[in-house]
Amino acid sequence: MSDTKKYVDQWLRDAHAMEQQAETILEGQIDRIRHYPALAKRMETHLEETKSQRERLEDCMERRGISASGLKDASAKFTAMMQNLGGVFAGDEVIKGALASYSFEAMEIASYRILAAAAEADGDAQTAQLCRDICTEEEAMAEWLKEHMPNLTVAFFDRANADDTEAKR
Ligand code: MG
Ligand code: FE
Repeated sequence: MSDTKKYVDQWLRDAHAMEQQAETILEGQIDRIRHYPALAKRMETHLEETKSQRERLEDCMERRGISASGLKDASAKFTAMMQNLGGVFAGDEVIKGALASYSFEAMEIASYRILAAAAEADGDAQTAQLCRDICTEEEAMAEWLKEHMPNLTVAFFDRANADDTEAKR
């Protein structure tokens, strides 16, 4: 087996684990940002996209004859869970969450740019196209987060300065 093919297979498994992690992180965040409906709605849309990305990667991996790495997926889920727990008592968790989400999208964008080029080098145009398609979805999410960062900060201060402690989140 060529190194190119070997790495494409490995990086597809990594991407699959990454999407599982994304799923867990998004589910945790949506739970905690109910006072920010625009952000919650966008994250719900991206959660559906993320599930579909995972499924499309599974189809792609099946076509290439590779299995998902169960161990890596399990540890990715655990890391994501801990990441969610970490924000519970922060107070500014919506801001920390937006920061973390943007960083995660940037990592996804880089991963799929790399994978698309790698798949192209491996002569697998179908996988390359899938990675470009997914990358477009990640870029749209990153762009939305970037655009809404100032509004989110203002909305956060509106809540943080409110007397009602329940409203602070
Ligand atoms: Mg994704
Ligand atoms: Fe994403």
